[in-house]
Amino acid sequence: MTNGGDLMDKLVSLCKRRGFIFQSSEIYGGTGSVWDYGPLGVELKNNIKAAWWRSMVHERDDIEGLDAAILMHPRVWEASGHVAGFTDPLVECRTCKHRFRADQIGQASCPRKPSVPPGGAEPCDLGEPRMFNLMFKTFMGPVESEAAVVYLRPETAQGIFVNFQNVLQTSRQRVPFGIAQIGKAFRNEITPGNFIFRTREFEQMEMQFFVEPGTDEEWFEYWRHQRMEWVKSLGLRPEKLRWHEHEPDELAHYAKAAYDIQYEFPFGWQEFEGIHNRTDFDLSRHQEYSGKRLEYVDPVDRDKRYIPYVIETSIGADRLTLAVLADAYREEEVEGETRVVLSLSPKLSPIKVAVLPLVKKDGMPELAERIHRSFREVAIPSFYDDSGSIGKRYRRQDEAGTPFAVTVDGQSVTDGTVTVRDRDTLGQERVAVDRIVDYIRERIR
Ligand code: ATP
Repeated sequence: MTNGGDLMDKLVSLCKRRGFIFQSSEIYGGTGSVWDYGPLGVELKNNIKAAWWRSMVHERDDIEGLDAAILMHPRVWEASGHVAGFTDPLVECRTCKHRFRADQIGQASCPRKPSVPPGGAEPCDLGEPRMFNLMFKTFMGPVESEAAVVYLRPETAQGIFVNFQNVLQTSRQRVPFGIAQIGKAFRNEITPGNFIFRTREFEQMEMQFFVEPGTDEEWFEYWRHQRMEWVKSLGLRPEKLRWHEHEPDELAHYAKAAYDIQYEFPFGWQEFEGIHNRTDFDLSRHQEYSGKRLEYVDPVDRDKRYIPYVIETSIGADRLTLAVLADAYREEEVEGETRVVLSLSPKLSPIKVAVLPLVKKDGMPELAERIHRSFREVAIPSFYDDSGSIGKRYRRQDEAGTPFAVTVDGQSVTDGTVTVRDRDTLGQERVAVDRIVDYIRERIR
């Protein structure tokens, strides 16, 4: 049995060892608050984003895609309430200079004496909480003056709201409809941590669904259901998923109702997706601040005009990647040895199939290379490996989460069949070489 901390350490080390995730600027000592995705990590995260885009945009008639810029007009953040209210209470210890979020101090510990909470040891000297705005500021243009201040967006949602009329007019959608976007967001978090769970630069996958006021509660329930089903379709274990309903004192200033989907991470139950009823708050505020009409006119009954209500689904691509990795990580005893396996859903695996000649002679490498190329030709990510014992090669692929290994042996050269090894069951099946591409393709959808 491994405890949560051990599991996180193992996951971080596997991610580095196998090229999933590296600490940013590692050769300069790294930073704890931003991370880089390596060759396998970028594939995994891209597959997660593609699955989201597919279910939100490609499989539906009522949602359009968007890719808005990170830098926006500074008035956007006044209208959204972020300049005034996107703050966390910060407390600093004057002795050790460490900073804590005042609302999370119960879960933190004193860095000098970890057995006590911050403020609990003799020399601790906590200051008063002060509000700290989480938005990153920079300057647009060459003059570093107050008038040139712009922000790195702390959420992608506002890019959707300010484009509401543009998308409505160009896509010929009618309410109810949605706009979906995947993009980077930045928050100057006071206490980033837990690997890619809370970082200062991250990616969000957000969808804003515009509905007629009065139908919002129904749509809220609809989206709650949809989102949980989608999360389960990625293979996350249902017993590791639960809902958390926001109490009135937890609700954001714009929200009428909010539920989080939580996952039981190695460090406890935490949110990775939020479903929010944002009412007409955002569009009303942008109408007020921009002076542009953002109401919707019903195309049939033109006297019917209203500012749509918005149901938002907001999920962090990185946090979800962490949930997927933690969920997939297993250590198993096989023939007296421990094998580490990432039991990823085949549709998310970075490499779909490994092609392995049993030995480097007797025509096996040539046949294996031919099979490898036939996967590549139909865009199935395949990995050719002929170095080391076959057991070692299987274990390397287990750690990378590759669901299938095709082994070319002596029999292959004579009868045109190969063995396919299943990562999870370890079962082996003989399949004809001319069927192998279809065989794998059917199993990675
Ligand atoms: P938290 O309470 O954890 O700070 P939040 O309630 O502020 O999160 P939202 O503003 O609802 O989060 O953002 C939606 C999603 O974006 C979150 O569920 C999470 O997956 C992701 N997210 C938010 N902040 C971060 C961060 N600092 N690092 C990584 N992902 C984040």
